[in-house]
Amino acid sequence: MSHEDCIFCKIINGAIPSAKVYEDDHVYAFLDISQVTKGHTLVIPKTHTKNIYETPPEVAKELFARVPKIAKAIKEVYKPIGMNLLNNNEAPAEQSVFHLHIHIIPRYGEGDGYQLGWTTHDDAYSSDDLQQIAKEINAGIK
Ligand code: AMP
Repeated sequence: MSHEDCIFCKIINGAIPSAKVYEDDHVYAFLDISQVTKGHTLVIPKTHTKNIYETPPEVAKELFARVPKIAKAIKEVYKPIGMNLLNNNEAPAEQSVFHLHIHIIPRYGEGDGYQLGWTTHDDAYSSDDLQQIAKEINAGIK
């Protein structure tokens, strides 16, 4: 189930070297080559899946089941003061490698290198709007 042009599949099968953090039958975890902070780790399913939309529940289940224990190990070893999980889907949302991955980014305080700016639009949505949006999304859940 590996994809021949996929760089992360090549990492899983050893064709491309990586700094391996963890591996089992379902997942592979390794250091991001561009460390945002010390210990920045990518957790990926061994089954190739492009992004969250294409991920079967079983693959998601096994992947997410490993994230807490890897996160806790990073916390234990490097004592970060916080941690962000990040998953980018599609190029406009900054996905650059098209094999599903969860970034685990330990945080060490101001200026540690992590930045994620967003602007909230609290005044743009009334509580009726929020109810309506929630209903619309719910209707789309299959
Ligand atoms: P994203 O932008 O969310 O798709 O993240 C892809 C990540 O993969 C980036 O943070 C890259 O630094 C990382 N990356 C790309 N190639 C490698 C590689 N050969 N080994 C480790 N990390 C990589």
